[in-house]
Amino acid sequence: MENYKMAEKMSNVHSDIRGPLFVEAMKMQEEGIPVLKLNTGNPAAFGFGLPESIKNALTGHLEEGVGYCDFQGMKKSREAICEYERKKGIKGITPEDVFIGNGVSEVVSFALPPLLNDNDEVLVPAPSYSLWGNSVYLAGGKPVFYLCDEQSKWYPDMADIRSKITPKTKALVVINPNNPTGALYPEEVLRQLAQIAREFHLILFVDEIYDRLVMDDLTHISLASLAEDIPVVTMNGLSKSHCLCGYRCGWMVISGPRHLTEEYRKGVVKLTSMRLCANTLGQMVIPAALEDMETPAAMVRPGGRIYEQRKATIEELKKIDGLSFVKNSGAFYVFPKLDIRKFQITDDKKFARDLLYATNILLVPGSGFDWNAPDHFRIVMLPDKEVLSDAVRKIGSFLDGYNQKRVSIQSVYTHPKKLQKK
Ligand code: PLP
Repeated sequence: MENYKMAEKMSNVHSDIRGPLFVEAMKMQEEGIPVLKLNTGNPAAFGFGLPESIKNALTGHLEEGVGYCDFQGMKKSREAICEYERKKGIKGITPEDVFIGNGVSEVVSFALPPLLNDNDEVLVPAPSYSLWGNSVYLAGGKPVFYLCDEQSKWYPDMADIRSKITPKTKALVVINPNNPTGALYPEEVLRQLAQIAREFHLILFVDEIYDRLVMDDLTHISLASLAEDIPVVTMNGLSKSHCLCGYRCGWMVISGPRHLTEEYRKGVVKLTSMRLCANTLGQMVIPAALEDMETPAAMVRPGGRIYEQRKATIEELKKIDGLSFVKNSGAFYVFPKLDIRKFQITDDKKFARDLLYATNILLVPGSGFDWNAPDHFRIVMLPDKEVLSDAVRKIGSFLDGYNQKRVSIQSVYTHPKKLQKK
């Protein structure tokens, strides 16, 4: 029946992090095969516990979250966010410029529709976390993917961005640090991005959810702090820095000249008020979390889990023939490149599937991040360092002699249990 068909606007939406291969991996688990899931950036799943600061902020305050709160978010939490973003150099903002949502995932869904008419174009990085491209489609727009260049530490390619601007381009998305590359952008790169937005009157959507997870004594710079004269929507949240993915806590802050954002804000207000408010329990911990910068800092300094896990991963990656990578400076992802000629790879989803059934390791291939060559995959560096070293060694052994054309996955694919028993 036509009536029950999935809407056409869904046809471009993809979610490979928890997509078909993930479902296959779950089936393997049900059959008793343990799978190492390196597909999701969910720290709690790898033993990153609830920070004490958060525990204390919740207990004793549960009554405060019983009713609906302000549709923009609880006042104390918006004040804390405003303070945090001001400290990062974003000027001229007040708690009225802050909108709290159920994770950045929900925030994006009320940030894009108020701006986009059908077929308006939004520049989105490639590779990038698929939330962004998907959300542009769902808002009626068209994501136009711009290149982040592996040869230049995965920084955005300014010439490529400029070449893709048309009269329909409305916005430029920047993810810094990026998922899946873990690249952190220096000031000069950020200034060039701001300049493009300035010249072409674009709104900047800047996803900074990994801003507190930066390594090697580098500093994260908020793009909005360099772009006072431009409308900027800065997004952030607690899923990664405080390992609180399940609390669904994210926000956006609108900065830049007020008269330019007035109309847009009215749209955001309509959408946020329509859904009443974000989960109050998640919001209640924001002031404590933003005072507790030690939790994220401890994870990324030498001796901290994220730092040491990256070290263990890259030490093993270096040993793999036919594989190259750019060391990440932020987040907990690395996005290695496969020599597709050597391995005769033409389909990265098949590569990920072959790997899953040969090693019981679940990875997301590059195409899951809107990367259009079959030559990359992402590793989530959240398990303990020993587990990661072992996993990367297994990937190396799998690749040793791998030739995609010669692997007949069908037999393995349909009988994972038999494979395990051999
Ligand atoms: N933005 C980026 C770049 C991400 O990598 C993720 C999750 O992995 C999100 C947003 C989603 O964050 P949240 O848990 O706040 O919805």
